[in-house]
Amino acid sequence: MKNNKFVRTVLGDIDPQTMGIVDCHDHLIKNGGPEMQEHIDFLMIDTLAASEELQSFLDAGGKTMVTMDPPNVGRDVPRMLEIAKKFAGKAHLIMTTGFHKAKFYDKYSSWLKTVEEDKIVAMMVAEIEEGMDVHSYNGPVIERVPHQAGIIKCGTSYGVIDPLELKELRIAAKTYHQTGVPILIHTQLGTMGYEVASILLSQGVDPHNIILSHLNKNPDKYYYEKILQLGVFIAFDGPDRVKYYPDSLLAENIKWLCDRGYQHQILLAMDAGRFYYQTAYSATKGTVSNGIAYLLTNFVPLLKQVGITQAMIDDMLINNPQVALSFDVTKRK
Ligand SMILES: [Zn+2]
Repeated sequence: MKNNKFVRTVLGDIDPQTMGIVDCHDHLIKNGGPEMQEHIDFLMIDTLAASEELQSFLDAGGKTMVTMDPPNVGRDVPRMLEIAKKFAGKAHLIMTTGFHKAKFYDKYSSWLKTVEEDKIVAMMVAEIEEGMDVHSYNGPVIERVPHQAGIIKCGTSYGVIDPLELKELRIAAKTYHQTGVPILIHTQLGTMGYEVASILLSQGVDPHNIILSHLNKNPDKYYYEKILQLGVFIAFDGPDRVKYYPDSLLAENIKWLCDRGYQHQILLAMDAGRFYYQTAYSATKGTVSNGIAYLLTNFVPLLKQVGITQAMIDDMLINNPQVALSFDVTKRK
């Protein structure tokens, strides 16, 4: 019989306590999809570079990575399985089902628009309980691999939640009630976080299984506090992104939150979802850049420098993910 709480990795369910240090939102492979219309840097299909990048995260002390590419938006099941199998016993990888922001779907003819809500719930449940579609629901043929998704993603837009995104949220909540799967939200530049969390809570999702991403792009500590009072998790996933804000502002905001007792609701990640955000991919073009390991080699020392204790860092990197990423089958309706 299965434990009540487990984490669903690509290679099977594990005891949450064996996850070690967790990067809660990242990318190793991104294959095509609508992001490529925004920038070619979103194309990342080199399994050797991805493996090297993952190894550098392990060398820096990491163990588990949540790769947040949903079907139709860059997810590449075969390449990710190749990496997961290569790192079996060394790293835990979690893959996602679900959606991204509405901009990435045709408002008239995408399956997200035209397929009835409960039928999409069944598609999501199948990815979580039976196995992911190797074609990532790019259709028209569905062929499942015996490897399951361990989290569901939804997206929202800048300052608005689109009707298609409301549909995503209803589907995610229903999928949660059937499976116990954790839910992560892409917020656009950190907006609508409070609203999206409130919507999921109103649909009966446990706050411990709700993770809001990209709030670091809206560096408003009072806004963070208002959101954390709902009981949900915030994943601060963007050190090394000076084009938005310096690391010091993020570190000081995290310190401010920890001082107010929110250390149990904060998660950390790099979200290095572009070619030149990763050291190993950059090196294939002769370029030098920081990568995923930066989270542990540079950002954690800065957290200590601003006065965050090792116990707080352990909560954010090790203990909190055990709660946020666990399936709680006792919550199934
Ligand atoms: Zn991402």
